[in-house]
Amino acid sequence: MKIAVAGAGALGGRVGIQLHESGVDVTLIDKWEEHVNAINEKGMEVHTEDKVYQVPVKAKLLEDIDESYDLIIILTKAMYAEDMLQALYEKNSIHAETAILTMMNGLGHGDRLAKYVSKDRIYLAVTMWTAGLKGPGQIVLTGSGGIQIQRADGIASKMTEEINDIFNTANLNSIISRDVQHSIWAKATLNSVLNPLCSILDKRIGEFAAYGAVIEMITPIIEEIIEVAGARGVNLDFDASLEKIKAAFPDSAAGLHYPSMHQDLAKGVQTEVDYLNGKISEYGKEYGIKTPNNDMITHLIHQLEMKNH
Ligand code: NAD
Repeated sequence: MKIAVAGAGALGGRVGIQLHESGVDVTLIDKWEEHVNAINEKGMEVHTEDKVYQVPVKAKLLEDIDESYDLIIILTKAMYAEDMLQALYEKNSIHAETAILTMMNGLGHGDRLAKYVSKDRIYLAVTMWTAGLKGPGQIVLTGSGGIQIQRADGIASKMTEEINDIFNTANLNSIISRDVQHSIWAKATLNSVLNPLCSILDKRIGEFAAYGAVIEMITPIIEEIIEVAGARGVNLDFDASLEKIKAAFPDSAAGLHYPSMHQDLAKGVQTEVDYLNGKISEYGKEYGIKTPNNDMITHLIHQLEMKNH
């Protein structure tokens, strides 16, 4: 199977090199020229806790793409996914059978991708793998993770099994989910609480958690998300959602880290808030559910994004 990872930054780099190392024909596609050139000149430079090594994976600039793929894994930031798909269409990289898989954080990606291909060719994935970018052609990989996948229409298929097998051969610890939407919403709940609040307060997750009334503070945000999720047929449990967030608090988990949104604001780039709290507000309006906490958080992050420009 010919695979492309479209958006080959931190996480796309991780998925791409693990697929390459397992013998898969994989191409990294990105629009960042320095990054693509660096990968082609000396391989992707991988930094782990105990070593630095090069992986000679193929990389191409989006404008130079002249082939089609059987599976395209979209790993741009959420707001650039449609531009990426549009460009791949124009390059004839999506053939009649091409499967499109999204592993991006946030909500609503299946519906967005369905403007380009039917839902029986869309695969939704959620991952607990992490990765960082050190510079052009350099990624930092620590820790372990896993992937859950399901076809967007919820129907089991041979292709789902093939993708799952390919991911497992690449040691990406994949499982086929029977309800990936639940996992996507559970992760989006965590991200909609910790990402914006640590960004607004300029705190690491552990510093944020040290506030005595932290549970009282985050409860209304979670309650709004659960109500909106319910209206969309996803049954999230309050206690389980809270436990998932609390599990990130200790230093041994994510306590010492700033969430990615904090890092995006520090870098002066756009955040994914419109696919987290912003999506909750948007769905809330659609279903007549009031979401004042998520509305305010979205506004605050947009204000911080403006400060950067
Ligand atoms: P990143 O910024 O490191 O990488 C995104 C890449 O997409 C960049 O290399 C950028 O140049 C490229 N890109 C953006 N728009 C493009 C376009 N129009 N054409 C071509 N290339 C384009 O981001 P990331 O951290 O790898 O995150 C990607 C997605 O994965 C996000 O949705 C993120 O929330 C999710 N995610 C990331 C991690 C992580 O640890 N990094 C973990 C879980 C989920």
